[in-house]
Amino acid sequence: MSAPMPAALLLPDVPCWLDGRWLPLNEARVSVLDRGFLFGDGVYEVIPVYGGRLFRFDEHMARLAHSLQAARIPDPQGPEGWLALLRELVARVAAHSGSADQLAYLQVTRGVAPRAHPMPPGLTPTVFLMSQPHTPPGPAQRREGVACVTARDFRWERGDIKSTSLLGGVMARQIAVDRGAAETILLRDSGHGMTVTEGSSSNVWAVLDGALIGVPPSTHTLAGIRIELLRELCEEEGIACHLRPIAEAELTIADEILISSAGRELLPVTRLDGEPVGHGALRGKPGPVYARLHAAYERAKVEQSI
Ligand code: PMP
Repeated sequence: MSAPMPAALLLPDVPCWLDGRWLPLNEARVSVLDRGFLFGDGVYEVIPVYGGRLFRFDEHMARLAHSLQAARIPDPQGPEGWLALLRELVARVAAHSGSADQLAYLQVTRGVAPRAHPMPPGLTPTVFLMSQPHTPPGPAQRREGVACVTARDFRWERGDIKSTSLLGGVMARQIAVDRGAAETILLRDSGHGMTVTEGSSSNVWAVLDGALIGVPPSTHTLAGIRIELLRELCEEEGIACHLRPIAEAELTIADEILISSAGRELLPVTRLDGEPVGHGALRGKPGPVYARLHAAYERAKVEQSI
């Protein structure tokens, strides 16, 4: 039997929005001919909510617009429509669950049509929004850090689109799960050896010579909302930050490795492929760059949520 779901997720009748109406999550239904169901033909966003307010909302909207445009799905709302809908969602879920800290999820699929690969013109997109109470990683996880494994990046070449076609990401994550680790760090042959692309559902960072190194944007990776955020936080903190390829070998000599995502925020990676990360007294322990950026992130949550 699989492990029980965390209590925070056991809200089957939490309000959600599907195609123009509010209803309990366990009553929401889409057609089996929805192209999201048949093809994974849709895009999505996951937006953290702190104290009932949406974190880095404009950045999520810009990424959603990019995904929709790349997938040639018309935007059924526009930023103001999304903001109004998301705010109402968050308020309804807070009233239902008592929790003002949430992870809001929104999905747009191309819509319902007879099954055929070509994009049918004139479809009405299917719009679905849900939100659940969310507890960011706690002190124990931040103190211990997480274990990661590496694997070859076998996913498609449009990682810049936040697509609901996630079989590649699901298979990549399971490599970590099967080895008792929290995330799989993916490596691709860049023509100059293997370099890091991203985690199965996170961006990856290395600390080398005191500088935070992140992977430059490309069609191989998602432009994680935390990439610009961490650049800004480094600037505030006086930590050097560069986006440049990270070679596989650099992971083994890095002082620190971090992963970032909406749900996990920023976490230190303290074991990689079974070996402790880092050097000296900090080997296998979270490092000082993580500690400073975590504190800065906590401040940003308050200052950058609307
Ligand atoms: N890459 C992938 C493949 C992801 O799924 C995610 C999580 N959405 C990220 C990176 C991190 O992006 P963000 O910081 O916006 O959550």
